[in-house]
Amino acid sequence: MIIASNFKTNHTRNSTYAYLATLQEFITKKDSKQDIYIFPPSTALDGFTLSSQIHVGVQNAYPVEKGSFTGEIGLEQINEFGLNTILIGHSERRHILGESQALCAKKFDYFKEQDFEIVYCIGEPLEVREKGIDEVMAYNLKQLEGIDLSYDKLIVAYEPVWAIGTGVSASVQQIEETLGKLHQKVKAPLLYGGSVNVSSVKEILEIEHCEGVLVGTASWDVDSFCQMIEIADSI
Ligand code: PEP
Repeated sequence: MIIASNFKTNHTRNSTYAYLATLQEFITKKDSKQDIYIFPPSTALDGFTLSSQIHVGVQNAYPVEKGSFTGEIGLEQINEFGLNTILIGHSERRHILGESQALCAKKFDYFKEQDFEIVYCIGEPLEVREKGIDEVMAYNLKQLEGIDLSYDKLIVAYEPVWAIGTGVSASVQQIEETLGKLHQKVKAPLLYGGSVNVSSVKEILEIEHCEGVLVGTASWDVDSFCQMIEIADSI
């Protein structure tokens, strides 16, 4: 299974090092078989020496090698650290930073050309969820417009906006129904994200078509993230 952590605007360079050291020790000691993805802030990126099942990626990048895009990083900065995993389309970038579907698709195309592993996020806001599953699917499929769903290094994370960082996860039934419908269109691994924590991770990982979780808040504490990995190992 895929167990992913999005640090967002949390952790420093020092605390990221300490986190990864603890995580590596845990994975080795427990001989965990999970695929782990960690997305630290750009200030904490580095050429980490970790076992191959731990993938460190960038939370965002501009689709250029280098240039005049103040505040952004491009391929040259990522390549310096030998990283080749990226998160694209996170709801905080779409909704807080105003990233359009066209820009998400442009980023996808660029980093696909660079052979990156892409964790691509989609998810509906509350007012859409309240209209029912047909509206939910229409909204989510629009966020897949322009994305090559046959790309073999694509992972799709279904993250309802109303469940992110709110402490209110989607219900097992809602996740099951949505992932089931997404699976009819998307053959890439599907993750769920939205207030997953140590108490809920087992029932979520057991949902049909759920191949992993993308975790924010509950993953920032390394012990809690390791507990989630241990639970995944027990399934
Ligand atoms: C996320 O940022 O992708 C996320 C799922 O956050 P949280 O777990 O805090 O809801």
